Amino acid sequence: MSSLTDRENQRKKQMKKYYDSHRSQILKQKRKHYQDNIEEYKKRRKENYQKNREKILEEKKKEYKDHKSRYHNYSKKYYQENRAYYLQKARKDREENGEHINKLRRERQSKIKEEVYRHYGNGKIMCVCCGESNIKFLTLDHIHNDGKQHRSGKSFRLAVWAKKNNYPSTLQVMCMNCNWARSKESDKICPHKKFKSTE
Ligand SMILES: [Zn+2]
Ligand SMILES: [Zn+2]
Repeated sequence: MSSLTDRENQRKKQMKKYYDSHRSQILKQKRKHYQDNIEEYKKRRKENYQKNREKILEEKKKEYKDHKSRYHNYSKKYYQENRAYYLQKARKDREENGEHINKLRRERQSKIKEEVYRHYGNGKIMCVCCGESNIKFLTLDHIHNDGKQHRSGKSFRLAVWAKKNNYPSTLQVMCMNCNWARSKESDKICPHKKFKSTE
């Protein structure tokens, strides 16, 4: 009665035994095959993904939702268990590369600032009031003095915001002097302009 199942089981057992004893060899072959045909695999994966994109995304979303708390708990637990390691690593990274990272960050920030200021100045980087052109003295000024919601104290962040929001025309480039002096005037006009007009 169960001879078929028996045989089947027997065969499975044999295969497993073979696999177990030749495991590293089989894996090596598989890896080699994969490496040799990697382009083909990539192509197939991409095609498969494109064909079933909606479905795959939907499934991933569902899986994530189903296991959300598990995922979160797991990564939280993992972090907590290895917290000392992570903190130490972060400290070491900072010590070893802090200077370098800071330099890169400054470079990246001034690049974005340059790009944004140049955009506002139609290709030129300068204060709309006095013409100051040293970027280190420049900042973005709120033409209508409505900058309270952006007062982060970082001209870089405002520049990033401006770029992201497609360069709102409510901003202009001004030097810190003009920007500051203007903000202190009751009519919000830079003293530069007023001295000129009363002369
Ligand atoms: Zn100025
Ligand atoms: Zn001015």
